[in-house]
Amino acid sequence: MQTLTLRCTLKPTPEQAAALEETVRLFAEGCNHALRVAREHGEFRRFKLHHLVYNDLRSMGLSANLAVQAIARVGRKKGSRARFYQPTSCAFDQRTLSLRREDESVSLTTTAGRLIVPMKLGNYQRGMLKRARSVQGGVLTRGPKGKWYINLILRLEVPTPPTGGGKVVGLDMGQRYMATLSSGIQVSGGGVKSRRIHLRNKRAEVRSRLDTERTRGVVRLWERLTGREARFLSHTLHTLAKHIVDGLEPGDTLAIEDLTHLRSRTAKRGSVERHLHHLWPYARFRSLLEYKAALRGVRVVAVDPRHTSQECPRCGHTERGNRRSQALFRCTACGFQHNADWVAATNIARRAGSTGMGRCKPARILRVSSLHRLPSESPRL
Ligand SMILES: [Zn+2]
Repeated sequence: MQTLTLRCTLKPTPEQAAALEETVRLFAEGCNHALRVAREHGEFRRFKLHHLVYNDLRSMGLSANLAVQAIARVGRKKGSRARFYQPTSCAFDQRTLSLRREDESVSLTTTAGRLIVPMKLGNYQRGMLKRARSVQGGVLTRGPKGKWYINLILRLEVPTPPTGGGKVVGLDMGQRYMATLSSGIQVSGGGVKSRRIHLRNKRAEVRSRLDTERTRGVVRLWERLTGREARFLSHTLHTLAKHIVDGLEPGDTLAIEDLTHLRSRTAKRGSVERHLHHLWPYARFRSLLEYKAALRGVRVVAVDPRHTSQECPRCGHTERGNRRSQALFRCTACGFQHNADWVAATNIARRAGSTGMGRCKPARILRVSSLHRLPSESPRL
């Protein structure tokens, strides 16, 4: 079983939209009240907080479930406490939200009673909803342009990978080529790097303007830019992970490097590089790969990353000098020569139990931006 969040667009009627608006507003008010009380009493433990504010929240007009959700939100985590809750989202659980597959809508308990709100689904969402065993609840959110979304929390059945057979494919990740597979496919970042630098510079420029002219327009621009780079990166990672996993069959194994070590290997100086480096979230990419692979019945194995780019896949000779350049590998012992990233990917595959050298053909180079069009789902990480 696996839990997954699926974002769907809602198509409320104007009356329904007004009811959603009121529910979200009241929910935020409830959260802010709970937050105030929690601060006054210095008490953020959920149980204690419940006793302090539950009755207040109920008398404000929140349903029992929404009151519980509001307390959960305020009492949730240490260290990452909000100072104030904006009326932009509201959580529902299994009792206050249910999915109606027959007419592609969700039933929500709002301050105006039970509403049946139609959803606008794409093929991806339809497929995921079909596979879902159950819906555990969801989060209603309002986008910046006033659109309404529901982030459904789904429980999915995960296929058990067939044992035996299946190929092992190694994946090497880098800065220049985002991904190189031992099966011969290489994905270049294309414009990813330059676009991120562009977004970063633009953001820095607006940031400095904020100091002198703190107008509403500039603040808005700053907020908009803040999200843009993160969304761009998130989309890129999803696209790449999907492409890699879709190219494998159930029962195959994807071998990756144990990513915690990769950081030190590619350590770079300079603020731009450092920024890109830190925002290349290996751990996040790995968990993306793992969850997409699990849904497809593909195993993910992490291997020792040491010297994967220096070891000769033909004779095993390992030496720094084998790596002639960023792009070229040439064994000083046996003369074997190939694309350096592909050599690393092949070594990674072998460490995960692959036999043979994979497909020893020139890499096919793809651009990450061309892997597929923007998906209708917008991934949450
Ligand atoms: Zn060799």
